[in-house]
Amino acid sequence: MKAVQYRRVGGSPEVVDVDVPEPGPGQVLLKVDAAGMCHSDLAVMDWPEEEFPYRLPLTLGHEGAGTISAFGPGRHRYSEGERVAVYGPWGCGLCRTCSYGEENYCRYAGRMGIHPPGLGAPGAMAEYLLVDDERHLVPLGELDPVEAAPLTDAGLTPYHAIKKSLPKLVPGSTAVVIGAGGLGHVGIQLLRTLTPAQVVAMDINDQKMELARRVGAHRAIRSDDSAPNETAELTDGRGAEAVFDFVGSTATTRTAARCVTTEGDLTIVGVGEGTVPVGFGTLPFEASVSAPYWGTRGELVELLELARNGSVRVHVDSFPLDETPRVYERFHRGEIPGRAVIVP
Ligand code: NAD
Ligand code: ZN
Repeated sequence: MKAVQYRRVGGSPEVVDVDVPEPGPGQVLLKVDAAGMCHSDLAVMDWPEEEFPYRLPLTLGHEGAGTISAFGPGRHRYSEGERVAVYGPWGCGLCRTCSYGEENYCRYAGRMGIHPPGLGAPGAMAEYLLVDDERHLVPLGELDPVEAAPLTDAGLTPYHAIKKSLPKLVPGSTAVVIGAGGLGHVGIQLLRTLTPAQVVAMDINDQKMELARRVGAHRAIRSDDSAPNETAELTDGRGAEAVFDFVGSTATTRTAARCVTTEGDLTIVGVGEGTVPVGFGTLPFEASVSAPYWGTRGELVELLELARNGSVRVHVDSFPLDETPRVYERFHRGEIPGRAVIVP
């Protein structure tokens, strides 16, 4: 089968031929219908050799949706031909956090050698994907797999982040979204559907700012040094009750810290070099800072319901698998608004 692999540190992703995997006991083989392209893939391919955490070659793609094609030995609840989304942050399945569905925070996965597809295990940018266990699958029903695949990360990650701040996003409050890309443009929609907050989006790219407005941001402003002042003006001098930084750079974390208000939440989702100093007088009183990772299985189930009732729609551009290396280049240049989705 064809697969998109990152084969050596510093190299470009390549389309190669590999064997179709055989499902072992408890495993499920999916015929991949769609695989989303995430900025984290670029971060992985930017990692220096000495820090590189995964074995190479690595088949990319941690946002997957597909059709069940075969089962390994054992009993199953799903059936062949069923369409599913793949919950990506696989855990041990048995510890306390996993029993809450929070496999994203399993303390044992790493030391047990369990990795998400595309981030250690072979990923979804291939004709077939091996899923370790049926519990990682969520039925798609009538959802289009091309729109659903990005929900497993570009949707789930902002959903998890935003859910934590819902109690603060009361009528009259403001939420700031920095970076209206794959995650950010879904985050804006989630804020609009789940909260009465004013939503202020920030980006550096005109096309992304336009998309932010189209998906429901009340304001989309340029992410520069004056953005915190503009936010202050839009909030009667107060600042935002919740700031979601989907970039995580030195510049954006600084902006984020200047936008958050007293008792507000500052959530850093983007993987960058940025840091936020915390200590008396560095941030408004009782501001909370967190850097979450992905989301829970239960949240993915909830999010697919929101997609089914039309509350969130991923803006997708789909491409055949052979074009993936070229699409990564365009993505790297910031030329793809919303999410690029590979259809093998
Ligand atoms: P993306 O490339 O689709 O979107 C990033 C957006 O940020 C783009 O619209 C870009 O124009 C904008 N941007 C760049 N510099 C900016 C600046 N200085 N100010 C404002 N906007 C700026 O990326 P994505 O796939 O949405 O991923 C976003 C980030 O989230 C990445 O760092 C990714 O690695 C990370 N991520 C984290 C998790 C997690 O669990 N914490 C999960 C998925 C992705
Ligand atoms: Zn991702």
